[in-house]
Amino acid sequence: MTRVLWFRRDLRIHDNPALVAATQGAYDDGDGSVTPVVLIDPALWPTWGTAKQAYLIDSLRSLDASLGDNLLIRHGKAQDVIPALAKEFGVKAVHCAADYSGYGIQRDDEIAKSLASQGVEFIKTGSGYAVAPGRVTKDDGTFYKVYTPFYKRWLVHGWRAPAADPEKWPTWAAPENCDGYPDRPDTGSVVVPVAGEAAALELFEKFLAGPIENYADDRNRADLAGTSKLSIALKWGEIHPRTLLARLGDSNGQEVFRKEIAWREFYADIAFQRPDTITDYFNPVYSQMKYDTGTQADEKFTAWCEGRTGYPFVDAGMRQLRTEGWMHNRVRMVVASFLLKDLHVEWQRGANYFFDWLLDGDLASNSHGWQWTAGCGTDASPYYRVFNPIGQGIRFDPNGDYVRKYIPELRHIPDGSIHEPWKVLGGLDHGYPEPIVDHAAERLEALARLEALPKGAQKPLYPKAD
Ligand SMILES: Cc1cc2nc3c(=O)[nH]c(=O)nc-3n(C[C@H](O)[C@H](O)[C@H](O)COP(=O)(O)OP(=O)(O)OC[C@H]3O[C@@H](n4cnc5c(N)ncnc54)[C@H](O)[C@@H]3O)c2cc1C
Repeated sequence: MTRVLWFRRDLRIHDNPALVAATQGAYDDGDGSVTPVVLIDPALWPTWGTAKQAYLIDSLRSLDASLGDNLLIRHGKAQDVIPALAKEFGVKAVHCAADYSGYGIQRDDEIAKSLASQGVEFIKTGSGYAVAPGRVTKDDGTFYKVYTPFYKRWLVHGWRAPAADPEKWPTWAAPENCDGYPDRPDTGSVVVPVAGEAAALELFEKFLAGPIENYADDRNRADLAGTSKLSIALKWGEIHPRTLLARLGDSNGQEVFRKEIAWREFYADIAFQRPDTITDYFNPVYSQMKYDTGTQADEKFTAWCEGRTGYPFVDAGMRQLRTEGWMHNRVRMVVASFLLKDLHVEWQRGANYFFDWLLDGDLASNSHGWQWTAGCGTDASPYYRVFNPIGQGIRFDPNGDYVRKYIPELRHIPDGSIHEPWKVLGGLDHGYPEPIVDHAAERLEALARLEALPKGAQKPLYPKAD
């Protein structure tokens, strides 16, 4: 009798507690047989962008190879397929890692009930986080709404060492009635990076061997390869954050990197405690703000999406998104601020667009990254902070290398003056547009709209002492 190991957002075989538990159970049963399964839901699949589809297919193929080409792919809704599989194979237990998203919790509860009615156990082991959402709480048991105290308590809570590989690997059951991979789509403008666990581990080793030492300084520089680029692998569970944390010491760069990983854990925790904040305001007062809608706002939104705002640092970011399915963190903040505070578009519109294009698109980090920038989220940036798209470019791309890489129409400008091409003789000669708005004027407009909110709304909802 086999056990089912259902892979979701944990597409790796090392440091995988659910795999270890399934293996242990299978040997306890007597035969050590495990059926590794992945589901493709035909209702959800078409809603994904082609780059994400292609990346997932590549990642699954990599996982499949690690499993000796024994990955069973079934198409259908999890609530139907998993109980049916359990019956088909007559299994004792279905194993997986816990999912803490609102939808995931509901889906898993339904599956657990169906399986229980068949006398089958549903065993969740581990999660995609070093510390599972809901575990880091204040003394009174409530959750943290501010990052720094969360971080301190998260450190004190600590996390397990990476899960060791099973002493004896299971016998992977040969896939029966496999529905096969969906067709790998043409990814259009996006060049998808190499997917899979081996690629993620290699990326991490490269980061450890060099960039991490200067990470504290370089991580904000859009023109340098100063960050790990591991967000995509973390999103799909090709690598576990515990694997990363176990290799970090106390150098400045390593400490700052640990803090960044904690942001991911913090936002996952907030989304677990307040699932409504994936789409709604963390600070509800901000929903009363005046936002622009209608044809003109739509046109500006389209210019933002396509990297045609006339602000080079913003446009380079949006074009990076559309060619790599990824964007540098500093630039994410700047483009988000531009949409919110220069174009006065509501944050959910930008968040949805990001989510469609980002290969690392993660509901918690994305929605809360947007809400932070909008000023309505946890630890929100002060309401009066409006990123200056020119100043940010000059500071974090001083020679213009980042802009030149993504905007061919500006490649003839050889230095930092690229951030204000309208001031350069012949700067706009190759088709790059004039700014679509005047940043100085729109900044004042944004501040006026914030001031118009009910008194006190501009202050963080929770004071820093929280
Ligand atoms: C508007 C906006 C939207 C965002 N959307 C996402 C998203 O959908 N998915 C996503 O993974 N990150 C998101 N981020 C956070 C951040 O931009 C990316 O995690 C980071 O750019 C990934 O690059 P990296 O792996 O090289 O990061 P590194 O600098 O190498 O950091 C290491 C890891 O720490 C985590 N991390 C770092 N910064 C943050 C942060 N601010 N918030 C949460 N986690 C962080 C990521 O898992 C990252 O891979 C968003 C930020 C903003 C401002």
